[in-house]
Amino acid sequence: MTIFPFTEATPIQFQQPLPRTSDVVIIGGGVIGVTTALFLARRNVSVTLLEKGRIAAEQSSRNWGWIRQQGRDADELPIVIEAQRLWRQLAQECGEDIGLKQTGVTYLARTDKEMAGFAKFLKIAQAHGVDTRLLDQGELASLIPAMSRLFKGAMITPSDMRAEPW
Ligand SMILES: Cc1cc2nc3c(=O)[nH]c(=O)nc-3n(C[C@H](O)[C@H](O)[C@H](O)COP(=O)(O)OP(=O)(O)OC[C@H]3O[C@@H](n4cnc5c(N)ncnc54)[C@H](O)[C@@H]3O)c2cc1C
Repeated sequence: MTIFPFTEATPIQFQQPLPRTSDVVIIGGGVIGVTTALFLARRNVSVTLLEKGRIAAEQSSRNWGWIRQQGRDADELPIVIEAQRLWRQLAQECGEDIGLKQTGVTYLARTDKEMAGFAKFLKIAQAHGVDTRLLDQGELASLIPAMSRLFKGAMITPSDMRAEPW
C-alpha cells in the first residue's frame, strides 16, 4: 500500500537483512538511487540500496513532476529527450499508473527580451527535432482565452510531459 504524504508514522516497508556482499552499494532511495539500482539490476549487477528513512519520502516525491525539454541548455537537451523515452518505458513497465501525461509546457513572455531568449532556445530545440514553437499575442490569446493580462507572446513545447512524483 502506498501512503502519501510520508510521515514518521509511515511504516518502513523494506527492511530485509543486508546481503553479505554486493557489487554496488547505493546510498539514498530517491529517484536517482532507485533508478540507478533498477538499471544496474537489469544488467545483473547485484545492488544494495540503503535508505535512512523511507523510499522516495524526500524531494523525489514532492517536486513538481515536470519532464521538461523546454528551456534546457544545449548539452542537457539530449539527456531530457532520452529521459522522456525512459519515462514512457517505465510507465509501461511499472504495472501501475504513474500519472505520466503529455501536457506540454508553455512559458509566457512579458518583454521582447524574454521573447528573444525564447528564440535562442528555439534554435537549440530545432537542432534536436523538438517540437518547440513561439506564439505571438494572437496565438497565445487563442491558446488561453481567459487570460486577463497581456503578454508579448509565449514559447510552447507540446511534447513535454509530467509524471506524478509520489
Ligand atoms: C521545488 C522543487 C521542484 C522541483 N521540480 C522538479 C520537476 O518538476 N522536475 C524534475 O525533474 N525535477 C524537479 N526537481 C528536482 C528533483 O526533485 C530532484 O532533482 C530529485 O528529486 C533528486 O533526487 P535524488 O534521488 O537525488 O534526491 P532525494 O529524493 O532527496 O533522495 C535522496 C535520498 O537519500 C537519502 N539519504 C540521504 N542521506 C542518507 C544517508 N546518509 N544514508 C541513507 N540514505 C540517505 C534521503 O533520505 C533521501 O531519501 C524539483 C526540486 C524542487 C526543490
